[in-house]
Amino acid sequence: MEDCIFCKIIRGEIPSEKIYEDDEVLAFLDLGQVTKGHTLIIPKKHVRNVFDLPPETAAEIFRRVPKIAGALKEAFPLEGLNVINNNEEVASQTVFHYHVHLIPRYSKNKDDFGFKWKDNSNTYSAEDFKARAEAIKAHL
Ligand code: AMP
Ligand code: ZN
Repeated sequence: MEDCIFCKIIRGEIPSEKIYEDDEVLAFLDLGQVTKGHTLIIPKKHVRNVFDLPPETAAEIFRRVPKIAGALKEAFPLEGLNVINNNEEVASQTVFHYHVHLIPRYSKNKDDFGFKWKDNSNTYSAEDFKARAEAIKAHL
């Protein structure tokens, strides 16, 4: 796609710090470096986000995740790793070319990435819970 920043990286029109490349995917360092080694994996084919992602492209991306995660683990003294994908603006997507973030996590005092789940289990009934599952299952 002409104006897409990640397509420009794939075409070599803007610089990037590439760490892995093959015919289907490219992995490079995220400029933001939320933590040391923060890496993005993108498909070479332009896809906006998960809602447009062909299953075979999803497979191409995720089959490479363990290898790159393993390399990060060997390279840095990480203690964990978040694998994150943001879809649409409301979910913090800012670059509209599908990408998976690999964000190494270090011990608490060395890592101020404040990513934490909120537990809402006291805010819904058993019926609500079941109705949510049924609503999704109706479309699968
Ligand atoms: P998201 O908010 O999930 O869409 O993530 C987009 C990510 O792309 C952000 O973490 C940015 O730091 C990163 N980013 C934007 N432009 C570049 C670039 N030219 N090279 C590397 N990373 C970039
Ligand atoms: Zn693109």
